[in-house]
Amino acid sequence: MGIALIWCLALILIKWITSKRRGAISYDSSDQTALYIRMLANSEIEVSVSARNVRRLLSFQRYLRSSRFFRGITVPNSSNILDDDYNGQAKCMLEKVGNWNFDIFLFDRLTNGNSLVSLTFHLFNLHGLIEHFQLDTMKLRRFLVMVQEDYHSQNPYHNAVHAADVTQAMHCYLKEPKLSKSLTPWDVLLSLIAAATHDLDHPGVNQPFLIKTNHYLATLYKNTSVLENHHWRSAVGLLRESGLFAHMSLENRQLMESQIGDLILATDISQQNEYLSMFRSHLDRGDLCLENANHRHFILQMALKCADICNPCRTWELSKQWSEKVTEEFFHQGDIEKKYHLGVSPLCDRQTETIANIQIGFMTYLVEPLFGEWARFSNTRLSQTMLGHLGLNKASWKGVQREQSGSGDDVDPAFEEMDSDILPQEPRLS
Ligand SMILES: [Zn+2]
Repeated sequence: MGIALIWCLALILIKWITSKRRGAISYDSSDQTALYIRMLANSEIEVSVSARNVRRLLSFQRYLRSSRFFRGITVPNSSNILDDDYNGQAKCMLEKVGNWNFDIFLFDRLTNGNSLVSLTFHLFNLHGLIEHFQLDTMKLRRFLVMVQEDYHSQNPYHNAVHAADVTQAMHCYLKEPKLSKSLTPWDVLLSLIAAATHDLDHPGVNQPFLIKTNHYLATLYKNTSVLENHHWRSAVGLLRESGLFAHMSLENRQLMESQIGDLILATDISQQNEYLSMFRSHLDRGDLCLENANHRHFILQMALKCADICNPCRTWELSKQWSEKVTEEFFHQGDIEKKYHLGVSPLCDRQTETIANIQIGFMTYLVEPLFGEWARFSNTRLSQTMLGHLGLNKASWKGVQREQSGSGDDVDPAFEEMDSDILPQEPRLS
């Protein structure tokens, strides 16, 4: 009875809040993968809030769901329904969590969609963070459940599996000799939290879409790193709500929040040239000193950038799946833009674009330059493996391109205009 009353009050409150947030977007519950926007007669866009978004906005509701999880009440998507065999296989996979060919899709199936929680919890344990920072494991699990739930499972690409994949890649980079010998537990802690939360609450559309639909986040962050700022602020909200670091001093918590922000903001792909030229200059001068905390944090920013766009450096089987998923998300945005006459963003038109063209452009202009410099910094077997896959995958997409077009050297012109403001930033696998 009490819950029903709270629910009714919450609905009224949400209706009021959303009436203030012109341009907000949400998912239509009747079509889970379709973004639903409703155009008003006065040509402004109003919010339609689905039940799912009510839950998202209502941290109290999320708290109820999470506490159900901890009280052991079975919910349909709980890992409790998995049999011992699946759990056993998932545990087995975690023993090889540092392998570059780790299959995150299989791991997600074995954990019944809980890959982000399972993997990140395991990594916290593996790196000794729980003991070092005296973390309450219940609070840690609750924090990770909230993080996982705040990713949109309807997004073909920007969902919790992508976050788990980036976290696994980050773990591989943290293990690299140059980094592992100089990183402090604090650095590792920040890196894993930033990786797990770097796309939190991603709406499945890019920044230009948010700007042209007058989304409140675009206004809030003044059209600059809109999504990345939102991911960071969402992460901070969950950190505070979970009380995971409540036992630390306020000064340390504030430092943590700000440094996590520096890491997440570095994943804004529109800033790639600035980061890359800084990285290149350091490598040319040979002046990177990992005893210096500022230098270490810069390298962690570069590592997270690599982890975020490492899909083309995975094996073909994994890489191809990611390519299909991200293209599906681009094209989905393009479909909405067409439907509402918003002007189709570059790379988002399913009539004129192909996966092969998009991937070849992405690899040529973004992935190869970044991983080339990373291999200069950390010339290891892992770096050579990644560059090897990158070369092979690019050749495979060129083969597909030749079959489709009969030519073979088409690079998507959108990538040649990387510095242009008109380009979408986020859909480039950020
Ligand atoms: Zn990402």
